[in-house]
Amino acid sequence: MKERRSDIQVLSAGYRRSGIWNTALDFLFPRRCPFCDEVVRLGDLVCPDCEKVVSYIGEDHCMKCGKPLLDTDSEYCKDCMRTTHLFNRGRALYVYNKAVRASITRFKYHNRREYATFYGRVMAERLGGFIASCNADCLIPVPISKEKLEKRGYNQAELLAKSISDHTGIPIDGGLITRVRDTSAMKELTRTERMKNLKGAFKITSHVVKCKNVIIIDDIYTTGSTIDAMTEVLKKAGAENVYFVTLAAGVPV
Ligand SMILES: [Zn+2]
Ligand SMILES: [Zn+2]
Repeated sequence: MKERRSDIQVLSAGYRRSGIWNTALDFLFPRRCPFCDEVVRLGDLVCPDCEKVVSYIGEDHCMKCGKPLLDTDSEYCKDCMRTTHLFNRGRALYVYNKAVRASITRFKYHNRREYATFYGRVMAERLGGFIASCNADCLIPVPISKEKLEKRGYNQAELLAKSISDHTGIPIDGGLITRVRDTSAMKELTRTERMKNLKGAFKITSHVVKCKNVIIIDDIYTTGSTIDAMTEVLKKAGAENVYFVTLAAGVPV
């Protein structure tokens, strides 16, 4: 029995910062909207125009990967109907549209680390029900290689996980799994090629995984091959259920 209704909801509630300290910070360092990069009103986190254009993935989502469903009579998206995923289930917050893509690009490549505070808060709020239903023992950000970390200075998935952890109280186990090999330029690859490319990319650092239920955190969900590759390693090491939460997901192709 499906319990899904309305498709994509449009953000209407305003997100504001609160507290004297935050107000002082806003005054000294004006906040910029994570979507259009314009300075927002004092106390706001997002500008009113962007609140209207950003789309959340609503109730009509794939029961496996969380992508928005085009055919609302189906349980699963086209991608999941032809793929056997290793992870249990996952959800994503935003539809990956132009505004969200621009925002994630700045967050990931242009040092806008502060966006994580906003993203994590909205993820914890909007996907709180799903996150709670996972009974997770820990959050695991998708790791990046040492080389990439040195070059970029931060791992955006880790910043997201920290913010979600602040709001949900679920601890992060960031050292459990490492990325031993980078797998860049996967955009043009098929799923089989991606999986091949990801073989041996992740390594578990402990022989005994204490977390039985795990939520992997990442910025974008596309084919799920990265999450599947991590799931394979985690389940081999003793994790029982592997879920994921991402900031955005594309429409199924
Ligand atoms: Zn804006
Ligand atoms: Zn799906």
